[in-house]
Amino acid sequence: VKAVNTIARMSTLVRMLKKEGKTIGFVPTMGYLHDGHLSLVKAAEKHTDVVVMSVFVNPAQFGPNEDFDKYPRDPKRDEVMAAQAGVDIIFCPRSSEMYSEGYSTCVTVEGLSQVMCGRSRPEHFRGVTTVVAKLFGIVKPDIAYFGQKDAQQAAIIKKMASDLNMDTEIKMMPIVRETDGLAMSSRNLYLSDAQRRDATVLYRALKRAESLIFAGERKASVIKEDMKKMIVQKPAAKIDYVAIVNPCDLKDLEIIAKDALVALAVNFGKTRLIDNIIVEV
Ligand code: AMP
Repeated sequence: VKAVNTIARMSTLVRMLKKEGKTIGFVPTMGYLHDGHLSLVKAAEKHTDVVVMSVFVNPAQFGPNEDFDKYPRDPKRDEVMAAQAGVDIIFCPRSSEMYSEGYSTCVTVEGLSQVMCGRSRPEHFRGVTTVVAKLFGIVKPDIAYFGQKDAQQAAIIKKMASDLNMDTEIKMMPIVRETDGLAMSSRNLYLSDAQRRDATVLYRALKRAESLIFAGERKASVIKEDMKKMIVQKPAAKIDYVAIVNPCDLKDLEIIAKDALVALAVNFGKTRLIDNIIVEV
């Protein structure tokens, strides 16, 4: 694996690869890698010649009272794991270069960024789309891979790429889970043992929603109430939202007539966990 720390060096490599006619698969991350990230690398390896992973804890996507400072970081471990998984180039730009003095440009996807996670994290998706647009500008990927774990993020990036005529195909890959169902996340590290045990209720609530839908329940309000009842049985769990929406435009569904994204955000102490499931009807 080649480790690259400057934008100039990354751009030079990209120019060389393009000249050789190589296709580039891109996996943007904030590091502290786990099997969820590595599943994206595996997908990229299958479809493209060269796999580029970025590791950048993007300050612009953290709110003022969020966990930017204590977000887990371990660049050495990331490099080893990325190499083992088949990453060809690991790009770790410096914040001072990504947002140099006087930086003043943002990319905002209206609408999709304001619902669900956007309600409690009002600036978050603007930070995400801005950094992803910048990274696409540097890496010029043919295909970029995102996890369904962040389904709203993937929907927003698809919209951005389409609205701005970006020459990158966006692929969303399935959620990788721990054996007890908890979606893998770098933030799971923050959970106490008790919170970690209680957090398994999230996937159970999502599976419950799925089985209600499979059993013929079509009213979203009934399903959401049922899920909330399950979740609040864990006293440490504080629900931010439970939503049932159209997976593409993220609009609330009242009646479930076709595919539905069932999504939730729940706080366990200071740790905010998100998870979702797409139910095909
Ligand atoms: P992050 O480092 O948390 O910003 O995540 C980087 C990418 O990995 C994003 O596209 C995430 O959606 C994806 N990802 C994170 N966790 C998982 C997971 N458990 N399964 C699949 N993809 C994931």
